[in-house]
Amino acid sequence: MLIVKKIFLLLFVLTFSINAQIKVNENQLKSFLDEKEKIYEDICIQMGIANWNVYTQENEADQNTPKARFSVLFSNDSLNQIINGWHSKIENISNDTLKRRVEVWHRVLTGAKVDMDPEVFELENQLEEWLSGSIPKEEIPSTQELSNMILHLMKLRNEKAIKLGYENYAVMMLDLSEIGYNWFMDFVDEILKRTKPHYDKIINDLKKELKKDTITIFDLRGIIQEYYMATGDAITLNENQTMIGMMSSILSDIGINYEELPARFVEKEVPYGGNGLAINVPNDFRAVVNVGMPLSVWMHELGHGLQAMFTTINYPILEGYEWCLGEGCPGYSEGMAETSARFTRNTEVIKKYSQYEVNNQNSVINKYSAMFLRFSLISVLFEIEFYKDLNQDPAVLTNNLYKDILYFDNPIGSSLNLSENIIYVSYPVYLQNYMLADIISWQVHSKLEEVFGKEYGFNKDVSNYLIKYFYSSGEYFPWQERLLNGTGKELDVDGYLKSFGY
Ligand SMILES: [Zn+2]
Repeated sequence: MLIVKKIFLLLFVLTFSINAQIKVNENQLKSFLDEKEKIYEDICIQMGIANWNVYTQENEADQNTPKARFSVLFSNDSLNQIINGWHSKIENISNDTLKRRVEVWHRVLTGAKVDMDPEVFELENQLEEWLSGSIPKEEIPSTQELSNMILHLMKLRNEKAIKLGYENYAVMMLDLSEIGYNWFMDFVDEILKRTKPHYDKIINDLKKELKKDTITIFDLRGIIQEYYMATGDAITLNENQTMIGMMSSILSDIGINYEELPARFVEKEVPYGGNGLAINVPNDFRAVVNVGMPLSVWMHELGHGLQAMFTTINYPILEGYEWCLGEGCPGYSEGMAETSARFTRNTEVIKKYSQYEVNNQNSVINKYSAMFLRFSLISVLFEIEFYKDLNQDPAVLTNNLYKDILYFDNPIGSSLNLSENIIYVSYPVYLQNYMLADIISWQVHSKLEEVFGKEYGFNKDVSNYLIKYFYSSGEYFPWQERLLNGTGKELDVDGYLKSFGY
């Protein structure tokens, strides 16, 4: 492992010392990118297999080689010069596909200057190894030391992002994932404004009920439980059914034959719900799902797979591989996963497949969503606000967010341990993607109902609609444009909030 890293460091230094000006015309640019994308895809596949082996332990996992190869590719001097050169005059590119490839390449290369920086990359790898749970506790640093190292990693990311001209790393993450920091903060304001009267009512009703003047987080236990019951899976299996069988039936209802898909699912004890990996787009999708997970988790991972397995665009940088920052919008990918999972929440589908009578779910969801949307915003905003000033006390920041958004005083006390959550290392600034995903899946399903009627869950043309507008073109269109093409609107936050009555 060490040897690989040393070689890669040497290459990194060498490639940066060459500095000749390279000029290519549009045709040469195309051939140049064709060649680089072949290498890029080869590394993506190697990375996918390595990650698959980490999760399933089917074979020995080597994540360092693909990571080092990515670093070498992305620090390639001619690639950087050519992409920067053409990106600065992108309107001059006559071919739209080539234009988009340059755009995505530019984002990937920018992201790599932070995420694939040798210092960041090595610390992140080391922390991931320590936090993975596979190393005995006595062989890893103390919780406090780990927490300090995570803070150091965050500071390094910030430093590099600021050097590139971004305000901080969180702003860079949002901009490179095609969400945009300013757009996102307007989105946050809208959610806060629209949910406020409904959240106020929840709190005031609870105060009356409990005959208390102030509410603590513990007073919400009843509501939280009621909400989770309502959002839990309505479709459960009897002893003759399997998850794959149930997924096949639901897919078959909308016109997809599961048997013909290049998909493989493995059920295994893992420290998360599930993880779907597009190893080779569109020909090899695999997912590992934790033992005992409900159907919606299986369908979520399958949704990642449907997006990958029905991608027809054939330029690797536009195929939606997920290993490098800037390749696409993870919120959209999560949205495609949730679009699949949402079939398990469709009333007509539930009627067909549930063993039990289900009612009253939606009224509970509508009543309490204001609170849960605000809860979600706390974890999302914590990281975004923290990157603004990494010298602030994270516990004070958390308490302030709870106070501003949920009106709670000191819910977590005076300490916050960064090492308790691996997302700060492995999935930085990621949680907002699940909020976007819920809206995207709601929006897609609303459109399907509009086009195919209430029983759209049993219309075989639904798959063609999903493939045409949401899967096949990969990253060719920016994600908001895909939504516009497929639903008539960009992300419909207003419609989503109205669906709860807000
Ligand atoms: Zn997902």
